[in-house]
Amino acid sequence: MVAIGIDFGTTYSCVAIWREGLVEVISNDQGNRTTPSYVSFTKNQRLIGEAAKNQAPFNHWNTVFGTKRLIGRRYDDIGVQMDLHNWPYVVLNNNGKPKILVEYKGQKKQFAPEEISSMIICRMKEFAEAYLGEKIKDAVVTVPAYFNDAQRQATRAAGVIAGLNVLKILNEPTAAALAYGLDQNLKEATNVLIYDLGGGTLDVSVLSINEKSMYKVKGTAGNMRLGGEDFDNRLVAYLAEDFRKRYHTDIIAKPKALRRLKTAAERAKRALTSASEAYVEIESLCNDVDYQGKIIRNQFEELCSDLFRDTLKPVQKALDTAKVNKHDIDHVILVGGSTRIPKLRSMLIEFFDGKTLTASVNPDEAIACGAAIQAAVLSGDEHERLQDLLLFDVVPLTLGVEAARGMMFQVINRNTPIPCRVTKELTTLEDYQTAMTIEIFEGERTQTKDNNLLGSFDLNGIPPAPRGIAKIDVTFDIDFNGVLSVFAQDRSTGNMESLIIRNIDRLKQQEIEKMVVDAEIFKEEDKEDRRRLEARNQLESYIYSVKQSVIDKIGNLTPVEATMMVTECQEALTWLEGNMDCLREEFQRKISELLRRWSGVMKKIYGQRWRGSKRKRTESEASSGISTASIEEIFDSNLW
Ligand code: ADP
Ligand code: MG
Repeated sequence: MVAIGIDFGTTYSCVAIWREGLVEVISNDQGNRTTPSYVSFTKNQRLIGEAAKNQAPFNHWNTVFGTKRLIGRRYDDIGVQMDLHNWPYVVLNNNGKPKILVEYKGQKKQFAPEEISSMIICRMKEFAEAYLGEKIKDAVVTVPAYFNDAQRQATRAAGVIAGLNVLKILNEPTAAALAYGLDQNLKEATNVLIYDLGGGTLDVSVLSINEKSMYKVKGTAGNMRLGGEDFDNRLVAYLAEDFRKRYHTDIIAKPKALRRLKTAAERAKRALTSASEAYVEIESLCNDVDYQGKIIRNQFEELCSDLFRDTLKPVQKALDTAKVNKHDIDHVILVGGSTRIPKLRSMLIEFFDGKTLTASVNPDEAIACGAAIQAAVLSGDEHERLQDLLLFDVVPLTLGVEAARGMMFQVINRNTPIPCRVTKELTTLEDYQTAMTIEIFEGERTQTKDNNLLGSFDLNGIPPAPRGIAKIDVTFDIDFNGVLSVFAQDRSTGNMESLIIRNIDRLKQQEIEKMVVDAEIFKEEDKEDRRRLEARNQLESYIYSVKQSVIDKIGNLTPVEATMMVTECQEALTWLEGNMDCLREEFQRKISELLRRWSGVMKKIYGQRWRGSKRKRTESEASSGISTASIEEIFDSNLW
């Protein structure tokens, strides 16, 4: 039985199979090799693909597209909120999740993004079944490299709803490189840059392929809101202005005419790829006017010049994250329909100082081809061309746990190749704490409140001890499919709890790219925040260590002094509890005050040398900001 590879795209989808040592792209019912990712609902039927897109102007509100931008996201996600305004169809907030509202067979109906996506995936499967004359069960479905866990799981769900057994959710650039690598029969180690410009998004990835045909994604960057449709929109604005000047009518306000103009603009844009001028002809576009417009290639390039320039930014960024110099890129591979535009190609050639670009694999089809190759490998095809193919993906966002009251303690860094396994040491924050909640987050920010909560679990039965004594090993394990398992083990008892992150309901979804961008923007702010939290933790540690000293050396104090100290320590902790959010200076002021206030008693406890012995900070304390520092360390610390 054949397994298929599906490139489920934002604007177009593509399906391919591997048969007898070759990849074949399967045409749709109209004979085209890519199919619009459109679903439309009418009074009496549901249309998918070409048919859905063609009747869009006449059925504006019930034609759904772009569901890949919704899948696996929350309704209040910033990206979703931005998109809502551009879509003609209605998206509702259903318990925090987006639902698409359409009228179908005269009735209002709601669909989850997974359901609409599954209709497109199912149709792609049917094209393959019609071509092969047999039922298909297994598939590999691709997603952008930056998709987070929820988006991957939701895409997998769409495949399952379509009646498929999803063998793997594969990263798009990895798929493209796979198609390319197989095609080129690479013999030596190479660095490859994949530039994927589709209808709505730009994804750039840097991969290395070694002589054993092992693929490793070294870095990714992109722009979620830049693609062919933006070029279409520039053309539409130009043509609408032309229409307004000539016929004194504003088309922008007329959805049906606008939709038809958009379709014509996309056609003209494609024509400009091979011709130097293109004509736009639309019968009875508006007020019975038959519109005829003309655009030359230079004009089009001028209209889009700033957008074209913007496409280069993620290229540099991807190189930076991968720590690869542009001169060390051996191949620049073009993927996505929009990379056919000549101006974009010449700009890329210039960026890479004259390097020849690779388009040996058809840009619209490369991802589906790679997915088909991966599907064949996973379903046990032993063709000699598939021998030794192994794929390495990366972790899209940094993963960590919450430590020391709201601080993100990073366990696995962004862009780490998977599969991977990392163990870090944590400790208790309170005296005699017997349970610990492990909260797992993804994101680049310093404070967990700015990152995504993926899940949490409790580790109980920790033997009571002063804070900082217990040693808890937290292990993050990510398997080949990107499924994350988290284990927490108490070193003293061997007691262990774990959690597998699959449950997408728990995800507080935010836009991945935005999070990474935010992290950059907030870097300075975060730095101050980190120092503030460190000051707070040091104050807390100081109070705890004084309290412990009082208890340990109670014999050196009078009963009145001892009672007073215990009460004052408790009061100081209560103050801290109520003032968690104050400024760094405030914590510093407080610690100076306490140092002064308690110095007499501390001298009595320890004599003249009361500062306590130097103790090396443990790994968990140093990296997580949990501080069980000695009083001496607090004095030595450069914070004060
Ligand atoms: P997706 O974004 O869904 O991955 P594709 O990679 O298939 O989709 O890219 C679709 C985009 O490519 C559309 O905006 C389409 O207009 C554009 N495109 C396709 N062919 C050409 C061409 N010959 N010239 C310019 N743009 C093209
Ligand atoms: Mg694509």
